[in-house]
Amino acid sequence: MRAWEKNIRRVEPYVPGEQPDSPKMIKLNTNENPYPPAPGVQAACRDFDAESLRLYPDPSCRELAHELAACYGLEDGQIFVGVGSDDVLAMAFLTFFNSDRPVLFPDITYSFYDVWADLFRIPFERPALDEEFRIRKEDYYRENGGIIFPNPNAPTSLFLPLKDVEDIVAHNQDSVVIIDEAYVDFAEESALPLLKKYENLLVVQTFSKSRSMAGMRIGFACGSPRLIQAMKDVKESYNSYTMNRTSLRLGVQAVRDKAYFRETVERIIRTREKAKERMASLGFIFPDSQANFLFVHHPEKDAGEIFSKLKEREIYVRHWDRPRISGWLRITIGTEDQMERLYEALEEILKEK
Ligand code: PMP
Repeated sequence: MRAWEKNIRRVEPYVPGEQPDSPKMIKLNTNENPYPPAPGVQAACRDFDAESLRLYPDPSCRELAHELAACYGLEDGQIFVGVGSDDVLAMAFLTFFNSDRPVLFPDITYSFYDVWADLFRIPFERPALDEEFRIRKEDYYRENGGIIFPNPNAPTSLFLPLKDVEDIVAHNQDSVVIIDEAYVDFAEESALPLLKKYENLLVVQTFSKSRSMAGMRIGFACGSPRLIQAMKDVKESYNSYTMNRTSLRLGVQAVRDKAYFRETVERIIRTREKAKERMASLGFIFPDSQANFLFVHHPEKDAGEIFSKLKEREIYVRHWDRPRISGWLRITIGTEDQMERLYEALEEILKEK
């Protein structure tokens, strides 16, 4: 080993979902929206003033922050915008989890959390979910350096009722509690109204799922002005110009088109509810999803085998070779047609010896 190799930072990186690129495939593996972005976004794309690209973007993302604040009944100073919620969450880890006490997040959850904790040298503990994959709020009543969990949780798809979320936030007023609401638009309700009561709460959302803009990379955090200002200070010490002009322009249009947003979210929820019936009739078991995906297990067929056989048919779903979830698949809700093709393929695969 060369002397300088000892100084190389070794990390276990996050393994993202496959992004295959074949026009024939049915892509149900990374929870994207199967419908196109809002018509206003598409029009803004066509009319985009490319000449403006010679200028730096606004580092405070004021126009988009203002649009989001108006949409959610908040002040402009309560919004932080970043390059997808991954960027926002990483910035929140850096800003708020700066202590020797362990940050708490569930074992099983979004696997980027342990990657960031390792990368930023933040100690952490992972209370296990219960037998039915539920978060037990009492596990979060111990001393900690911060708390984070998605609601609905990923990949389990389960929603923790707002009353339990509030109990966790109220119990932990000496820490920052982050609720990662990547999938909340497909669920019962958001924790945003709790911001009126709790200064230690940060709610993070994304444009990648319900707003159909994963390719644009836009996420945002909502919190008390003190939390948001602290995040801006950290970000601006690192790189002020992370958002680009195109994302900022198109993001504004996506927030404005409320009718299209509601219509596509409702369509996905209807398809999900139908998917629950169809998957149950194929013999799958699954938690009662409130997200845009199902987390499913078949008692008689190996999940890895189903995954590979679907892939041979150009249907991509997600499978992890990890303890406790290796028998499970995560399947994004696609269009009605895509889901019909999935059920047909599953029926065939389940009949095979
Ligand atoms: N949080 C959770 C729970 C997710 O599943 C995802 C999507 N992979 C993200 C955050 C990040 O989404 P994005 O960076 O596209 O906003």
